[in-house]
Amino acid sequence: MTGPRTPSTIVAAARPGADSAYGSVTPPIWSSDTFCWPDAETKPEYDYSRTVNPNRNLLLDTLCELEGAKGGAITNSGQSAALLALLMLPAGSVVVAPHDCYGGTYRLIQAVQDQGKLKAVFVDMSDDRAFNAALKEPAALVWIETPSNPLLRITDIRRIAGRAKEAGALVIADNTLATPCRQRPLELGCDLVMHSTTKSLNGHGDLFGGALLASDPVLAERIGWWANAAGLAGSAQDASQILRGLRTLTLRIDQQERSAIEIAAWLAKHPQVREIHFPGLAGHKQHDLASSQQSGPGFMVSFRLKQGSDATARFLCGLGLVTLASSLGGFSTLICKPSTMTHRGMPPEAQETAGITGDLLRLSVGLEDVADIIADLTTGFAQI
Ligand code: PLP
Repeated sequence: MTGPRTPSTIVAAARPGADSAYGSVTPPIWSSDTFCWPDAETKPEYDYSRTVNPNRNLLLDTLCELEGAKGGAITNSGQSAALLALLMLPAGSVVVAPHDCYGGTYRLIQAVQDQGKLKAVFVDMSDDRAFNAALKEPAALVWIETPSNPLLRITDIRRIAGRAKEAGALVIADNTLATPCRQRPLELGCDLVMHSTTKSLNGHGDLFGGALLASDPVLAERIGWWANAAGLAGSAQDASQILRGLRTLTLRIDQQERSAIEIAAWLAKHPQVREIHFPGLAGHKQHDLASSQQSGPGFMVSFRLKQGSDATARFLCGLGLVTLASSLGGFSTLICKPSTMTHRGMPPEAQETAGITGDLLRLSVGLEDVADIIADLTTGFAQI
């Protein structure tokens, strides 16, 4: 085969070179905590599963190929991947992060700052002046989350990464919402890419996981070193399950995205919707930017109700198929109210600045028949 493999082939072909015991096609689970040494001086390739494990390596290699990365670490949650990125920074580093990032990321960066370990500057990444001003003080890390959670704002990865690199900062992108099927941040200039594999990569809503990958082998080595030193690695069982979920990633994303496009077009015309956020709509402010760096708009849609925040409770009560819960990317269509659910870790003023108000709802479109999802939302609107 010549040239890069497509995501569908990468995930289908991911298996060990050979299972020397039985030649199994599906990778077994190597759950052992420890591995035999031939003698006390010769360290085997696999010695201790906190440090290195065959299932984690198989998943890591697959994610690296999907993202065009040179290495990194499989962690036990998205949050531990974020923590790992921060852990590698020297004390007192400046971190420039989006003011409208995932609430857990915001809370983590803020809390580490509150302990005096780093300085956080939260900015609107689409505001050139604010971003340039944030870079006046030498930054160690610039954090990108695009599309952002929950408002699906698009950050110009090429531009932000270019400016950050000129200023000497490393650049990380949280690629959880787009997935490597739709966006490859390292190719667009980032040094690091992180995932909550809890979401689409596993896709089955039954575990926690994360990944932090690097474009540079030296940086990748450092990630592995810190993941081992801090004990942040995911288990062999979880790595095996995530790889199992990953097998159908492209099929799931294709269907979820097709449905999201239909639902967004329907919501955009709905008389009870005041505002819709979906980068796939031609009317979205950053539609062209999204198309220039993503190969599709994804499966997340957020919207505000015309009748304001009081109406959200009535709307949500009317839903049956669409479930009120805080996660995204899985087989099941989930809806949440970010201000009181996923982003409650953000102080109210920060929520206000980011536009995360009480009338905002976030929908993660799943695999149900799109007509049934629209019928369920219609019932919700009827309750308002
Ligand atoms: N990044 C994004 C964009 C997320 O939405 C989430 C969780 O919702 C995380 C990171 C954190 O991932 P986890 O819940 O696996 O720790």
